Amino acid sequence: MKRIAFPLAAPLLLISGLALLAPDATRAAEPAAIPEPVKATIATLQKDALAGTRAFEHVRSLTVEVGPRLAGTPRYARAVEWGLKTLKDLGFANVHPEATTLPHWERGAESGEILSPFQQTVHLCALGGSVGTPGNGIEADVLLVPSLKDFEAVDAAQVKGKIVFFNTRMQRTRDGQGYGAAVGMRGAGPSLAAKKGAVAILIRSVGTDKNRLPHTGGTRYEEGVERIPAAALSVPDADLLEAQVAAAQKAGTPVRFRLQLGAQHLPDVEGASVVGEVVGREKPEEIVLLGCHLDSWDLGTGAIDDGAGCAIVIETARLLAQLPQKPRRTVRVVLFANEEFGLSGARAYAEAHKAELDKHILAGEADLGSGRPYSLGSHVDPATLARMDAIAKLLIPLGVERGGNESGGGADLIPLGTARVPAFALSQDASQYFDYHHTANDTLDKIDPKDLDANVAAWLTVVYAAAELPGDFGRAPEGGGRE
Ligand code: ZN
Ligand code: ZN
Repeated sequence: MKRIAFPLAAPLLLISGLALLAPDATRAAEPAAIPEPVKATIATLQKDALAGTRAFEHVRSLTVEVGPRLAGTPRYARAVEWGLKTLKDLGFANVHPEATTLPHWERGAESGEILSPFQQTVHLCALGGSVGTPGNGIEADVLLVPSLKDFEAVDAAQVKGKIVFFNTRMQRTRDGQGYGAAVGMRGAGPSLAAKKGAVAILIRSVGTDKNRLPHTGGTRYEEGVERIPAAALSVPDADLLEAQVAAAQKAGTPVRFRLQLGAQHLPDVEGASVVGEVVGREKPEEIVLLGCHLDSWDLGTGAIDDGAGCAIVIETARLLAQLPQKPRRTVRVVLFANEEFGLSGARAYAEAHKAELDKHILAGEADLGSGRPYSLGSHVDPATLARMDAIAKLLIPLGVERGGNESGGGADLIPLGTARVPAFALSQDASQYFDYHHTANDTLDKIDPKDLDANVAAWLTVVYAAAELPGDFGRAPEGGGRE
C-alpha cells in the first residue's frame, strides 16, 4: 500500500545545520507538566481498557489461525498475511509490508538417548540454527560443566571427542534477570566447545519449569569455528543426565549419549515486517513507534512470545484511533520480522527509515508475555526526564512504578537505540513467563485476558501522552542499542 506523503519540512530547517537542532531543543524544553485535558483523556482510556479490550481476541486469532511461525518458513509468510489483513480490518492507515531477508532453518526429527550407565530416552530439542547430526547420529562420552565460566578452566584434552553438557540452572525472578544470567551457554556454547574439540553440546533448558518439554532458542556459531550440533534437554532430563553423570563418576565409568538432529539450513528467503499507522492530526511526520515481533519459535503457537506483545501494541493503537480526536503525532505499529533469529526485520526497518529516525520521538516494544506491568523504564535525554517522570505518575493507579533511565526497550529496538531514538520499557511480571518460553507449551491458555487489558491500559497512558504532549524526549544518550 502507498505510503502517505509527509508535508515538506519548515523552511527554517533548511537554513543551516545549527537550525536543524532547534526544533528538537525547543520541543524538549516544553514544560513537563501534563495538561488537564490530556490527564482526563488518559483517565478515561485507562478505565475503559481495564473494563475490557479486544487484545485477547488479537492473540487468539494469531495463535489459532496461524500458530507456529518461525521466520523464513512458509508458516511465517502466513503470519505476514495475517498481520496485513488484521491491521487493515482494524482500520489502520498505510498498512504495508517492509521487506527483509530471513534465514530458513527447519528442525526435522530429533532424539536423544543416554546409552550408559543406565539406558534411557530423554526429551530434547535442537537449538535454533543448529546444524544437524549425521543420519545415524553422534555417539560420544558426556562431559558435564556447570557453567560457561567453569568451562574456561577445562583442558582441551578433556573435551576432545566429547559431548559437552552445560548445566546452568535458571533462577526465577520477577524481572526476568535469571534468563540473562543463564542464556549465555545457549548462544556461545557450541563454538566455545568446538574450539576445544567437542563433537556436540547439550544444555539444560533455559527455563524455570519442571515440565518435560525442552526450551529452544537461537544459538550462534563463530566464523571460522567448526559448527557442531547443539540441543537443549528438558529440565527434568537435565536432572536425569546430571544424576547419571554422578553415578558414573562414582563407578569410574563414562556416560555415553547418542544425539540425532535432523536440523538443516535452507537458502535465505525474502520476508517482511508489517507496519500500520494511526496518522497524527497535527504532526504526522513525528512518530511514536510501538513494536512487537511477529515471528515465533516452531514448537508452540507463539502465544506469550510474542503474540501477547503484538496484541498489546495493536490494541493500544486501535483504541487511540477510536478517540474523538486522534493524537497529534503518528502512532506507528511495527510487527517486526525475525526477532528470534537475528533481528533482520529490525535492522531492515532502521535502514529503510534512516532519514526519519530523528523524527521517531519515542519507541517501545512489548516482548515479555502477558504478565502485568509493574515499572516504567526509559532511555531518553536526561534533560527531558521530568516529562517521563510526569507520565510515570499517571501510571500509579495501575500499580506501575517509575524505573530507571537505562532501559533499552526491547531487542528489536537495538538498531534504533544505536541511532539514539528515545525508548521506554514497561517491565512486566515475568515470574511465570520462563516456564513456557520457547517451548511447545507456549499456547493461548497461558494468557489471562485481564492481564493483557492491564498492559494495554499502561501502554495507552505512555503512548497517548508521548503522541499528544507538546514536548518530546530529545535524543537518547549514546550507548543505546542494547537489550
Ligand atoms: Zn523468544
Ligand atoms: Zn520474544
